[in-house]
Amino acid sequence: MPQMQTYHGKCHCGAVRFSVETDFASLGDCNCSRCRRLGWIMQSVPADRFALQTGEENLSLYHFNSEKIDHLFCKSCGIQSFARGTDGQGNELVMVNVNCLDDAPPVDRSTIKHWDGANF
Ligand SMILES: [Zn+2]
Repeated sequence: MPQMQTYHGKCHCGAVRFSVETDFASLGDCNCSRCRRLGWIMQSVPADRFALQTGEENLSLYHFNSEKIDHLFCKSCGIQSFARGTDGQGNELVMVNVNCLDDAPPVDRSTIKHWDGANF
């Protein structure tokens, strides 16, 4: 497993740029109606380990189901590079789309946990 360190990511067009501090300890995918279509691999981090550097004004917000997660995607290129939400204790989390990171090690797909979001 990689060390805890800071990585950098962006949407496809580069309008939305961020950094995230993570060790990729809990990579996940999900089979809910949206994640299945999106095909992202996510890593949740406490909100204070994520920094949006540019592009807040270029984000469009999408809610569905319980509307507890802010699905944010770039208005220009349509790529969702992260989402914002809270855990069961109310702690703010950011779910990063690791496929949007530029300087991260290759994803070890054997470590991905599969969330059964379709039946959540
Ligand atoms: Zn973009």
